[in-house]
Amino acid sequence: MLGVEVFESEEKGRGLLTRERIEQGKTILKQSPLVSVLKDRFVETRCGSCFSEFDLERRKKKKCSGCSLVYYCSVNCQVIHSLIHQLIRI
Ligand SMILES: [Zn+2]
Ligand SMILES: [Zn+2]
Repeated sequence: MLGVEVFESEEKGRGLLTRERIEQGKTILKQSPLVSVLKDRFVETRCGSCFSEFDLERRKKKKCSGCSLVYYCSVNCQVIHSLIHQLIRI
C-alpha cells in the first residue's frame, strides 16, 4: 500500500501526494467515474448506458425517445438511462 495523502493547492487544485517512488503504470487509486459518456464515434455501435457493443444480429438497439441522442440494449439500460433524464431533466 502506497502512502498517499490528499493535498490542496490554490494553483493546482486538489491532488494526491506521495514521497515514495511510483513505478510507471502502477495503479494507486481506483474509483468509479461520476459521469461517463460515449465518444461520438461509438454512439451508433454501443449502448449509451452499459457501453456494451451491439450485436446487430442478436440484440436490437432502441433509440431513447427522451433525448434521441443514445441507443440502449435492454429494458434495464433504458430504466437506468431514464433515471439520468430525471436527475438532469433533459
Ligand atoms: Zn446496455
Ligand atoms: Zn435519453
